[in-house]
Amino acid sequence: MENSKICIIGAGIGGLSAAIRLAAEGHPVDVYEANDYPGGKLTEIQIEDYRFDAGPSLFTMPSYIEDLFSLAGKNMKDYFAYDRLDIICHYFWEDGTRLKAYSDAEDFATEVEKVLGVPAVEITNILAASAQKYHLTGTTFLEKSLHKPGTWFSAEVARSLTQIPMLTGAVFKSMHQDNERRLSHPKLIQLFDRFATYNGSNPYKAPGMLNIIPHFEHNIGAFFPRDGMHQITRALYQLAVDLGVKFHFNQAVDKIEVVEKKAVGIRIKDLTIGYGRVISNMDVFPTYKKLLADQSQPHRTLSQPRSTSALIFYWGIKKEFKELGLHNILFSKNYQKEFATLEANQIDEDPTVYINISKKRVKADAPEGCENWFTMINVPANKGQDWESLIVQAREHIIEKISRTLHVNLKDLIVCESILDPRSIESKTASYQGALYGTNSNNVFAAFLRHPNFTNKIKHLYFCGGSVHPGGGIPLCLLSARIVSELIQES
Ligand SMILES: Cc1cc2nc3c(=O)[nH]c(=O)nc-3n(C[C@H](O)[C@H](O)[C@H](O)COP(=O)(O)OP(=O)(O)OC[C@H]3O[C@@H](n4cnc5c(N)ncnc54)[C@H](O)[C@@H]3O)c2cc1C
Repeated sequence: MENSKICIIGAGIGGLSAAIRLAAEGHPVDVYEANDYPGGKLTEIQIEDYRFDAGPSLFTMPSYIEDLFSLAGKNMKDYFAYDRLDIICHYFWEDGTRLKAYSDAEDFATEVEKVLGVPAVEITNILAASAQKYHLTGTTFLEKSLHKPGTWFSAEVARSLTQIPMLTGAVFKSMHQDNERRLSHPKLIQLFDRFATYNGSNPYKAPGMLNIIPHFEHNIGAFFPRDGMHQITRALYQLAVDLGVKFHFNQAVDKIEVVEKKAVGIRIKDLTIGYGRVISNMDVFPTYKKLLADQSQPHRTLSQPRSTSALIFYWGIKKEFKELGLHNILFSKNYQKEFATLEANQIDEDPTVYINISKKRVKADAPEGCENWFTMINVPANKGQDWESLIVQAREHIIEKISRTLHVNLKDLIVCESILDPRSIESKTASYQGALYGTNSNNVFAAFLRHPNFTNKIKHLYFCGGSVHPGGGIPLCLLSARIVSELIQES
């Protein structure tokens, strides 16, 4: 009789949601996690009296989380609460320009008209174009396996194909070129180009189709869990436990056992444990290189260039800044040069700086009169650069940039610090080269070159998480888990 038990390797957001879906469908599920905590990149750290969400800070598409509770027949309010943001992001330029991106499209357009003198209709049009791209292609490219013939014979795809002439501009132009033809102000182009970084790509190379990303943030909305981002991990972990999922922490899986081209279990040190299905939520690169070292390797897929990584300074700051909000961006003066420097595997001396301050919504995250700053810049994936000196230089440049823009002496305000860099991202989550989003999307075919959620070479083996289809970031990881559970249900 077939073994009905399912093994998931990794308790990242993809692994947790796959566990919930499969347990809710009645499967017995075991999750093996190398760390002593769940969540992978979606974790938190405490430094003295300051709490920080260590990884993701932007929360979009909460409906994908809600789906998990509905599927499990549980009331989400018993586990998880979130609010919609009125102001999505505060944007700063060094020439003194400051712009608030309101979640209400009309308010956003009015602000853009007031601050940049750009007719409000440009915002209305670009958000409508983003929505259109999503409605024409989102279901096909994000919600289904691209690698199953069934996906290509649906009414949805037929409709998308008829629209190809309309989308050609977006497919064969870069995000930047697509934005340049729709927007008249360089600052607004820079603002919309920024969305390429949401999957670690370069707006001057990534296809214009990725301009669907603003649709998620501006048309559907940006949200924030009431107790901070880590509440997502806590809630999903608790839901999985309540559904009977068994977690095994501090258990790094060493091998996926394959017999006659079928995954039949895992090995941890000398122990072999049999399973009917195996799902890898760890990065697909080490999954093949370490856990499937004796199997044939998808060389082309594994050699795709990686997305950018991040350098993060978690700073306790002994001051409150009224002009800052939850999400803040301090733009570089020369965006194209910044991305060219990243492509050369270096860090620009004037990087765009992102500051996330969860204290703005969660009062307990920092002491009275103080703030917890998650200060991040995009950096290249780890190729063995001299990170020690790059980090020292970047720290100087970031502090100088923030001091210039906010007219303070930031150095004097930092009371405690911790640092996360591509090497530590890799060592904490086994993400190859410390990339945040698996492979990058810097070419038209990137969506097809991501590893599928299954493999034709080994039956009963599946993949979910940010390094496989449909991509990185919380919403797409949740969708990857949905695709995997559907594939298992159909098999
Ligand atoms: C600094 C930072 C900022 C980000 N910002 C955002 C954001 O604002 N919004 C957003 O949506 N996304 C953001 N992301 C991306 C998002 O965090 C990831 O796409 C997502 O969390 C990845 O989830 P995952 O399911 O792929 O698993 P991961 O989080 O990569 O976890 C994989 C898990 O597998 C475990 N594992 C690895 N090898 C083994 C093994 N051999 N045996 C057992 N377990 C193993 C690891 O320990 C880890 O827990 C950010 C990421 C980072 C790092």
